[in-house]
Amino acid sequence: MTSNVLHFHTDAEIHKAAETARQTFRSGITKPLKYRRHQLEQLWRLIDDNTDLIIEALKKDLHKHKNETVLGELVPAKEEINDALEHLEEWAKDEKVVPALINRVGVTCLKRKEPKGATLIISPWNYPFFLTIGPLVGAIAAGCTAVIKPSEVAPHSANVMTDLFARYLDNSAYIVINGAAQETTKLLEYKWDHIFYTGNGTVAKIIMRAAAQHLTSLTLELGGKSPAVIDEHANMTVAAKRIAFGKSFNAGQTCVAPDYVLITAKAQDKFIKELKKAFEELYSKNPQNSTDYGRIINNRHFHRLSKVLHENKSGEIVIGGQTDEKDLYIAPTVIANVDRDDKLMEDELFGPLLPMIQVADVDDAIEYINSKDEPLALYIFSSNKKFANKVMDSTRSGAILVNDTLMHVAEGNLPFGGTGPSGMGSYHGKKSFDAFSHERSTMVKDLNPVSEAAMSVRYAPYNDTNLKV
Ligand code: NAD
Repeated sequence: MTSNVLHFHTDAEIHKAAETARQTFRSGITKPLKYRRHQLEQLWRLIDDNTDLIIEALKKDLHKHKNETVLGELVPAKEEINDALEHLEEWAKDEKVVPALINRVGVTCLKRKEPKGATLIISPWNYPFFLTIGPLVGAIAAGCTAVIKPSEVAPHSANVMTDLFARYLDNSAYIVINGAAQETTKLLEYKWDHIFYTGNGTVAKIIMRAAAQHLTSLTLELGGKSPAVIDEHANMTVAAKRIAFGKSFNAGQTCVAPDYVLITAKAQDKFIKELKKAFEELYSKNPQNSTDYGRIINNRHFHRLSKVLHENKSGEIVIGGQTDEKDLYIAPTVIANVDRDDKLMEDELFGPLLPMIQVADVDDAIEYINSKDEPLALYIFSSNKKFANKVMDSTRSGAILVNDTLMHVAEGNLPFGGTGPSGMGSYHGKKSFDAFSHERSTMVKDLNPVSEAAMSVRYAPYNDTNLKV
């Protein structure tokens, strides 16, 4: 049975965890590939042996359907582990580079892949397992130790991870600390060799300020308002289904959920009709009765979303709009004809609300996107390459997806991360290994007099006639 009572760690426990992670790293035990491989295999077993427990925890925290947990958390986590196990030797081996002319004789130049050291991983509540295990795979593969701070906002998941990580992983190297802002602030007082934070931009600034005290490197996986631009000639049935999926998976509480739609007046009615059909196909006419549809994580987020829905000054609700506080339920909701400066267009919605903004044409859509912060993802729906390329070439975002939503997250060979306010650095696949590694430039020379003679041009007294640019 999972529990929602989360034991917050004390300052003394936090101190011990930070010291242990540092001492263990210094001991060197996490560096051999055999050790890393064993920990990764244990992480895989942890998921495999406890799938039902994890599904139960997410059902309790987010009313997540089993399939959403399997597709959105467990399969991607296992794939990250498999990828690391398959490529560990290749990623970790020294990379030889060709030396410059001046060093050509008797020299070996290489990049050594060294673990950054004792690291801190802070994760959020919306995909609590994948967003904790994903970075942890990178830390283990790279040979780092890690203190892991799951989100207190998803307590069942945090409890399961606390228990399972302690049972399956080396406790002297991978240690869970639970708590909220106060405990995380304490953790941030310590010197880390890398901090990997996933969450919102406001807290990211706190993390960055703390990291600055020790000049610690950072990966920041943040969010933003990810637009979906729809070409009026696109196949509206398929576009609507894929947008409905992206907006309602985990009840819209996904960092790369399409936040809003940009569409021309001419195409709007057809698109709304298809969206309505798509939501009904997914969750029937009353999504509250569907076991497949999730819930808002807690009262605070329910009120945040209800407020922005009910206080918006413009637009009309064309789909959904129902809310039920006792059930933390908000229906998949589409609001058409929203003004560009409406409240709905200020912050990332992070819930099942989909505002639609009318644009005159593709240039107008591009101008609007560029008037806002760079989003984590940008979705384009068009079969016209010119249309899609124009949007791609004239905008910036963490990722671009043409004719689908969310699915790029499953591509381990594509780096996952934001740009500007949507994040810094990236991970998944080899990028996760890189995030926790330092490429140590290494030059090894021999002491052979022949090599010495070949490099003598650098020594004074200089002979101008021998040197050409
Ligand atoms: P959250 O509230 O769980 O916070 C994330 C972490 O920060 C938690 O571990 C929490 O304890 C810690 N935290 C909270 N307040 C703090 C403080 N004052 N000082 C130090 N630490 C603190 O999750 P959230 O931020 O609500 O997550 C949602 C946001 O995360 C959205 O913006 C979403 O887009 C983004 N997100 C990004 C990704 C990504 O991969 N880029 C994935 C998921 C979510």
